[in-house]
Parts: sequence; structure tokens; C-alpha cells
Amino acid sequence: GTEGQEEFDVVVVGGGPGGSTLGTLVAMQGHRVLLLEKETFPRYQIGESLLPSTVHGVCRMTGVTDKIVDAGFTLKHGGTFRWGANPEPWTFSFSVSPRTAGPTSTAFQVERSRFDKILLDNAAEKGVEVRQRASVQNVVEEDGRVVGVVYADASGERHEVRAKWVVDASGNRSGIHKAVGGKREYSDFFRSLALFGYFENGRRMAPPTAGNILCVAFDSGWFWYIPLSDTLTSVGAVVRHDMAEKVQGDPEKALNALIAECPMIKDFLSDATRVTTGQYGEIRVRKDYSYRQTKFWRPGLVLVGDAACFVDPVFSSGVHLATYGALLAARSINGVLAGTVGQDRAFAEFEARYVREYSVFYEFLMSFYDMHVDEDSYFWSAKKVTQNQYGELESFVDLVAGVSSDEFGLHDAESAALRFKEASAEFAGAVDAIAAEGENMVPLFKSTVVRQAMQESGQVQGRALLGAELGPDTPMFPGGLVTSDDGMLWQEPAQS
Ligand code: FAD
Repeated sequence: GTEGQEEFDVVVVGGGPGGSTLGTLVAMQGHRVLLLEKETFPRYQIGESLLPSTVHGVCRMTGVTDKIVDAGFTLKHGGTFRWGANPEPWTFSFSVSPRTAGPTSTAFQVERSRFDKILLDNAAEKGVEVRQRASVQNVVEEDGRVVGVVYADASGERHEVRAKWVVDASGNRSGIHKAVGGKREYSDFFRSLALFGYFENGRRMAPPTAGNILCVAFDSGWFWYIPLSDTLTSVGAVVRHDMAEKVQGDPEKALNALIAECPMIKDFLSDATRVTTGQYGEIRVRKDYSYRQTKFWRPGLVLVGDAACFVDPVFSSGVHLATYGALLAARSINGVLAGTVGQDRAFAEFEARYVREYSVFYEFLMSFYDMHVDEDSYFWSAKKVTQNQYGELESFVDLVAGVSSDEFGLHDAESAALRFKEASAEFAGAVDAIAAEGENMVPLFKSTVVRQAMQESGQVQGRALLGAELGPDTPMFPGGLVTSDDGMLWQEPAQS
């Protein structure tokens, strides 16, 4: 039985980056939010390499960027890859281009136990009621609408809570998402297994790339090598599906055998010892099969983060998709609760933008896995169109990183907004021109989806930094919605 029922505007299931971000953005609008998390934080999680749009875009909106900066995580300038036809490692940096250089063209390598706790504590500070050791068992439905959840507390006692919206941010291993209907569609292309552990005293690349994620392809798949501190390194092998037998049996032996297959990782770990105690003491295996739900919402229920979709980890997109999806869902909930927009329009906008962002990474990664293409061809096609005085590498980064907002200084917002708009237009023109190249294009830039969404990450950062100074938003889709000046909710575009 359940005792006196509580009521909230929103109940969030799960306190990872998706759940805490969504809860914070809704509570900041004055709504009542309950977040239920089954573990006690800090808790272990994989997914340690972040992108600039998370740290300087969405996290700026929730007011947590300074706390992340102060936490002393490893500063990440970009990625270094031994990948493709080139036998030499190559590096892309978020700030290699003079146009995007600056303090916000960086991200961090984070210990997720600490990072996720900073975000969850921030949610509580911003007004979210957080209950840990609260495990949601099922959603409650009435007349075709989800109206609440049932959860068990630490002592096993069951409680029913009611809400106008339930948000499933419970990651990839819970079954709550099934209540949305539709199904989880798995990718035929990305079907890998990851085997990973932690090492002390692994080698570091020379500055300024010392904090980069290092990705090294080898015959059975690829390795990540992520510097979490001066001495601690996260090391994982992502093994192709047809090589699955290599991750079976004793995990220690399996990991050592894979390391032995990959000379560069073997060399980097030659003086290192594996951590065998504490949260990093275990060698873990995860299927990282990519999937997406065929539906992301139904009346009363919204999915964000791994509950909604996941795409291969090579470009560190998981936390980005979780926090960006949370921002989109929060705009829908805030808009509906404030009465600026109706439910169906608000959530159609959420789903369309979210699916597009997912598709971008999906397509980007498909082309990235084309091992036969030498990375110079990416740079070359970028260079050919932008015609700038910088090298091919810089052009590539300009395109991939989108318009980073750091040069749009905080001191002079008006001219910053102007420069942002000019740079955005220049960027949009450059990607359109690249796409117009047609047949000789690398697959990456062929798709309209990729081109448009590369521009979106610049928009999120610009809105987070400049707010109303950026001027009114324009719809992403014909007939679609726009964001309010503060980026917190959807509204109808102004009639001109
Ligand atoms: P989670 O972080 O999984 O949080 C979900 C929370 O919900 C958990 O705290 C859980 O305890 C709680 N929960 C679950 N069920 C319930 C319930 N019934 N009731 C209450 N609470 C519940 N991403 C990156 O950005 N960079 C990377 O480098 C990267 N590397 C990866 C490597 C591998 C091998 C894999 C598999 C993934 C990687 N990812 C990476 C992806 C990343 O791990 C996820 O995308 C990210 O953690 C998703 O965040 P989330 O908030 O959706 O879910």
C-alpha cells in the first residue's frame, strides 16, 4: 500500500547528467521537481571524455560550469587519433583555429563519480528535491497518460508519487523506457563490446596534447586512453562484434592480450600498473551497441540520455547527447507548464531536434569508421571551400567544432552578439559550399543533417553566453518553434 500521495510538476528517474540537468532547468523556472536515484552518489559510471558544448553550453545554463572548472579535472584540448590510413598519430584540437581559440574551446576528462555528483548537488541547490536509494519500479498510467511513478525507498517501502510529467533519465540498463511504447532499434553498423580498466603511471603525450583523449585503432577494434589525472588513466578496448570471443573468459587475461595486440597502447602502459582496489579496481565489460527508441515521448512521459538513445563512444558524444536532450526536454516541459506552447507542438520540437542531433553523430561516426580514408581528405575538402589562410587541419576543426563562442567576449555583449552572428553566417555558408561539392565529398559533409546540426552546438553556446543579446531565435524546422531569449523554453516565432 502507499501512504499519502505526493504531487510534483515533474518526477525525474535517474540522477546522471541527463536527469540532473533536466531537473535543474525545470526547477530554475520555479516548478516543483522530484528526482529519484537508485544509488548513493558518488557512484561509478563510464563516459569520461566530454565535449565543449556540455561544459560551456548546457552546464553554463544550469550554473554549474564554474564548479566543474574549479574541480581540477584534466583539461582536454581535443583528441589524438592513430586512425585511418595514416600510420602516424594526428591531433585535432578544439582551439587550433585562431577563430575558435580561447577559454571555452576546451572540455575535460572527468571522473564520472565526481562529475555526476557535482551536477546532482547543483540540482539540489537550484531547488530539485533529490532522493537517493530510491528505485523506481514502474510508471503509473491513467486514461492513456503517464501520471506518476512507484518507487521503493532504502528500506524497501513502496511509494507512489504523482506528476504532470515523468522524465526517464535512468540510463541504458533500466526498463522504464518501455512504457513509452514503440521499440528500441539497434544499429547494424555499430555493434561492439568494450572491455576496460584503470592504470596508474601510464605515459602521457607531450603538452599541449597531454590531456587529450587518445584513440588508437588496431586489428580487432580500437583503444581509448583517457588521462583522468597526472597518474590515473582510463583504458578501454572497443572490440568489433565479430571479435567478441576476444573479450570472453578471464577479463584480466583478455585485456592484457588486447593490449599486446596494439603496440602504441602497449608502449604507453609499459611502466604502468593496473588499479585493483576501489571503484577503479574492476575490469568491466559493456556492450556498447548503438540504439534509439522509435518514440521519445508520449503524454506524461519523456525519455532523455541513454534511456532514449546511444551511439558508439569514439567521439565522446554520450554525455553531450544526454545533456542536450535534457535541455530540449526541459524547454518543452517549461513551455507547456508556462502555457507558451501546447503539448504536442512542444514535444514534436523536442523529438525532431533530438533525433537530428543523434543522426548527426551517427552519420559522422559511420564515416569516421571508414578506415580506408586518410584524414587528409577530410581536411582537404574543408580547406578547398573555406579558402582561408590557415592549414587544412584548422579548416577541418572550424567545421567540426562549429562556431565556438569564446571570442564573443563577456564584456561587450552587443558587439559580441554581432560577431557571433557574422561568424555563424560565415560558418553556415562554408558548410553549405562544402556540401555543394557533391560527389567528391567525404561522407561526413554530404548530409544536410550533419551540416545543420554542426551549427546548432554553436547556437547553444551562444544562447547560454549571450541570452537576449543574441537576438530572437529562428526556427530550426519550417513551421517549428523557437527558444525564448534565455533559452529556457519554446515559444511560437514572433509574427513579422
Ligand atoms: P547514466 O549516467 O547512466 O545515469 C542514469 C542514472 O539512473 C544512474 O545513476 C542510475 O543509478 C539511475 N537509475 C537507473 N535505474 C533507475 C531506477 N529504476 N530508479 C532510479 N534511478 C535509476 N560518453 C561520453 O560523453 N564520453 C565518453 O568518453 C564515453 N565513453 C563511453 C564508453 C563506453 C564503453 C560506453 C558504453 C559509454 C560511453 N559513454 C561516453 C556514454 C555515457 O556513459 C552515457 O551516454 C552517459 O552516462 C548517459 O548519461 P545518462 O544521464 O543518460 O545516464
